Amino acid sequence: MKVFLATQNQNKVKEYRFLLKNSSLKLLKSPKPLTIKEAGQSFRENAIIKVATYGRYFNTSVLADDSGLVISSLNGFPGIKTNRFARGNYSRAMAEIIRRLAGKSNRQAKFVCCLAFYQPGRKIITFTGEAKGLINLEPKGKKGFGFDPIFYYPPLKKTFAQMSLSQKNLYSHRAKALAKLIKWPGLLKTRQ
Ligand code: IMP
Repeated sequence: MKVFLATQNQNKVKEYRFLLKNSSLKLLKSPKPLTIKEAGQSFRENAIIKVATYGRYFNTSVLADDSGLVISSLNGFPGIKTNRFARGNYSRAMAEIIRRLAGKSNRQAKFVCCLAFYQPGRKIITFTGEAKGLINLEPKGKKGFGFDPIFYYPPLKKTFAQMSLSQKNLYSHRAKALAKLIKWPGLLKTRQ
């Protein structure tokens, strides 16, 4: 089955291509960008807004996610505002997070990804995946994207930016959300 991935983030495209390489879902080239107002109050609401905007416009099957970093001792900040907080400048944004965590002993954090799937004439379905870790007070690693250099994953004793694409995609929030979609019985019933 062929699906659009509604994102302008080429790092997400790279991860989804990797994750879907042996799946029946085949990603089409990204569609032209549409203006989206992420006015939702949750990752799920924003993922639905994205997928519904693209799905209705192109009248085809679409995947979209809304994701971000949730830091416990900052009351969930930056959460659904992660992208707006970063404004494309991740060195500045990571430094700001490290500054806000100064003196706090709790460095627990999670990446959250809500993946939404639109099919014309069907109910939109969503799946959420989380990766739990700690904020590293020093960015480490050059791989990955976004906040990966400060996201320390204790089971591997590495930040996401120190992992290869295949390793990150065993544990990431995005991989977990997508695994749920791939296992979803409704997908098997879908023909296109
Ligand atoms: P979105 O495109 O609205 O979902 O924004 C997601 C924000 O969270 C962007 O700033 C991303 O860089 C960040 N983010 C989401 N997933 C990851 C990840 O896997 N690694 C690092 N940063 C991420």
